[in-house]
Amino acid sequence: MTVPKKQRTAIVIAIDGPSASGKSTNAKMVARTLHFLHVDTGAMYRTLAWYCLKHQIDVNDAKAVATACRRWKATLQSGEGQVRLVVDGYYPAQEIRTNEVSAAVTHVAAVPKVREWMKQIQRQCAQFGDLVMEGRDIGTNVFPETDFKYYLDARIEERARRRAAEGIQENLEVRDRRDSQRATSPLMIALGAKVINNSEMTAEQTSRMIIEDIQARLKAAE
Ligand code: C5P
Repeated sequence: MTVPKKQRTAIVIAIDGPSASGKSTNAKMVARTLHFLHVDTGAMYRTLAWYCLKHQIDVNDAKAVATACRRWKATLQSGEGQVRLVVDGYYPAQEIRTNEVSAAVTHVAAVPKVREWMKQIQRQCAQFGDLVMEGRDIGTNVFPETDFKYYLDARIEERARRRAAEGIQENLEVRDRRDSQRATSPLMIALGAKVINNSEMTAEQTSRMIIEDIQARLKAAE
């Protein structure tokens, strides 16, 4: 018997990995196929970085960033197959993709109080339904209890090529190093995560691999 959605805990698919490892493309494809909601947690950290830049808050001042995060009027909004964080009712879709925000985001993401706040709000996303959540610490820290953990990776040259194809010139190594070496919830492979190196794979092949794995495991659990 299928348990009605409201009476069971939401299923969370955690997709982690370094920059340009294909998380967003695949998370969206998996969510669309399974009719789950897509959550881009990187966008949440980017939104805070954008907010700090906009309000002239020094992103290197951990205390000021933590205070801004405690006070900003940020709430969750669900629609069009996604759950997003909006600030004063606004989602800065374009603004958070600038080079300036990409350079600032690792600083705000390293602040422990910010990570605490983000974890809490990210867990609240499950109130909207089943999720495909992408980020850096979803399997290790945000939803460590989920059985569905995937870690995507690809060679650095391939990841740089993908970013360049999107018209973005960025030093991925610097951002990856900062994300992997920070003290609080650094990027790492979660225990039990399925690691997929997709350097030689298309997005369709990668997402099919994830979807087939999820479907097989959900079927076995019925
Ligand atoms: O995924 P995206 O590249 O947009 O993430 C931007 C940044 O947000 C990352 O480089 C990282 O510093 C931070 N982040 C994080 N934890 C997450 C998601 C993103 O620290 N779960």
